[in-house]
Amino acid sequence: MTTGPLAFGCWRFVQMSPAEARDRIETALVARMNLIDTADVYGLDWGGTGFGRAEELLGAVLADAPNLRDRIILATKGGITPPVPYDSGSDYLRSAVDESLRRLGTDMIDLYQIHRPDLFTHPEELATTLAALREQGKIREVGVSNFTLAQYDALTSYLPFPIATSQPQYSAVHLEPLRNGEFDRLMRDKVTPLAWSPLGGGALAHGEGTRAELVETLDRLAEREGTDRSAVALAFVLAHPSKPVAIIGTQNLDRIRAAVAALDVRLNRNDVYDIIEASEGVPLP
Ligand code: NAP
Repeated sequence: MTTGPLAFGCWRFVQMSPAEARDRIETALVARMNLIDTADVYGLDWGGTGFGRAEELLGAVLADAPNLRDRIILATKGGITPPVPYDSGSDYLRSAVDESLRRLGTDMIDLYQIHRPDLFTHPEELATTLAALREQGKIREVGVSNFTLAQYDALTSYLPFPIATSQPQYSAVHLEPLRNGEFDRLMRDKVTPLAWSPLGGGALAHGEGTRAELVETLDRLAEREGTDRSAVALAFVLAHPSKPVAIIGTQNLDRIRAAVAALDVRLNRNDVYDIIEASEGVPLP
């Protein structure tokens, strides 16, 4: 299954009933978000009641509507172990995958991502663990998130198969992957970037804590394109030649539906460089 240009994120998939949760997943699918991104640790933030709760809620949705399982790319993550904070050791990760499978009520995770690098696991051990989990049919593809380029290189050098995705924070207010080598490496390796917090966690939508010049630039482009600021901000994420998939985080049904407007926004070179300059507050040399 090919990943759509937008994905649905479950970090804030808390404090709702299974029926409300199902509404969100079905609405996301209609809005062409077939990759559903969760994590074992989701459920601790945003008023959630604990580790694993977001996976459990998604599992309840899939149990209630089993036909959804084949229509989604089920992506989850492991390796954050509050309060340690990280563990990608073999014993831990094997049990974490088993627990995620149990909570999600599935026998295979389509994309298993290492949520944050564990500085004290050798990349060879991690690669061996991931390869074994894949061999056992528990995970289909492997991804990383929040890895430095060197950490990504070290892991991929030991993995006996290509990595599928890398998930950095990327938006008009968080531009690092453009210049820290991550997008370049992913283009070289033909790996899909999954951009987390593409609206800067909401800042680009409501404008609070965002440079006035950036808000004005996004609004000007939104007016030209006959859309809203959020759609332009998402279109900026999608515009990079590495073809990032934007993982949207809203849990509001209207806003999930509205996000597809980003696919119709046409940003030219002037537009994307205007956004970068407005974000950074300095002209490019
Ligand atoms: P985001 O899309 O940048 O921000 C979503 C937030 O913006 C929500 O609180 C949403 O509130 C708000 N928002 C959206 N449109 C709005 C509007 N028009 N007006 C006011 N508020 C608006 O994404 P995110 O939730 O920060 O992250 C998205 C996904 O990325 C997560 O679900 C997760 O899958 C992934 N993620 C990964 C990592 C990682 O370390 N790998 C870290 C963070 C996130 P409403 O719900 O009220 O619309």
